[in-house]
Amino acid sequence: MARYTGAVCRQCRREGQKLFLKGERCYSDKCAIARRAYAPGQHGQGRKKVSEYGIQLRAKQKTRRYYGVLESQFAKYFDMAERKQGMAGENLLRILESRLDNVVYRLGFACSRAEARQLVVHGHYTVNGKRVNIPSYLCKEGDVIAVAQNSRSSEKIKAITETCGSRPVPVWLDVNRDALEAKILRLPNREDIDLDVEEHLIVELYSK
Ligand code: SF4
Repeated sequence: MARYTGAVCRQCRREGQKLFLKGERCYSDKCAIARRAYAPGQHGQGRKKVSEYGIQLRAKQKTRRYYGVLESQFAKYFDMAERKQGMAGENLLRILESRLDNVVYRLGFACSRAEARQLVVHGHYTVNGKRVNIPSYLCKEGDVIAVAQNSRSSEKIKAITETCGSRPVPVWLDVNRDALEAKILRLPNREDIDLDVEEHLIVELYSK
């Protein structure tokens, strides 16, 4: 299961905005965007003119990095999105939002998507009562996501849910913090997704 292992904050700096990839650090003054709000590298402060292709590429890269998905997986999601009814860009974001690691993060059961991914891989969550250790598992309407029974006493899980459990939860999820479980009421609409990206640019990029 491949994942990005390079410098994380560099990705935000490249996209010119916070992608919230590092949990609590992203809300502190240690955030690299707060300190150096320009692209990394020798020419980071000099790049000015961006082509149409460059704009489309940045929209795709930003979305991919926000959800922590590698290129080939992202392209597969786009294929899936195109085959579904409705707008491909919106379908794409909906698919990305329904990934189990994203849902765990959105529920405040993890402080970042990377942490959610690791916790899922380590088997700390169940879906409809069955342990699922695949971060890319696509959740469906009505699914019940819960912290696995034998993970509930884990100090790490307790610390994470205390630290990040107070974040607002999207309207399409219904969480019961005492029971450490949540239900997917419905899959999100575009207005429920707080990612600042023009998804039609991604569609245009892949349509070339
Ligand atoms: Fe991005 Fe978070 Fe790093 Fe800031 S601290 S640059 S938001 S990953």
